[in-house]
Amino acid sequence: MFLKAHRIPESLLFNAEGLSKRARILAMEAFDKKFFYGGSVCSNGGHSLRTKAGHCIQCDTSRIAFQLRSSDAGFVYLCYSKRIELV
Ligand SMILES: [Zn+2]
Repeated sequence: MFLKAHRIPESLLFNAEGLSKRARILAMEAFDKKFFYGGSVCSNGGHSLRTKAGHCIQCDTSRIAFQLRSSDAGFVYLCYSKRIELV
């Protein structure tokens, strides 16, 4: 229900049960996963869905957009001025 309400496809989830933080992050990056479950539950509400960094996305839903944006591909634009020779 929560995943559907926030349009998070199951393909972005990772089962991190039994993994250390380092192993979890490496595996999530290798498989391009954005959120995980299977770790400890959050102390506020006992939730289990977290960002790659370990923040509870059910307590703070703004973390969802941040996680998706921060790991999304993008462009870097550079400007150059011949007159002042500055990039
Ligand atoms: Zn929580």
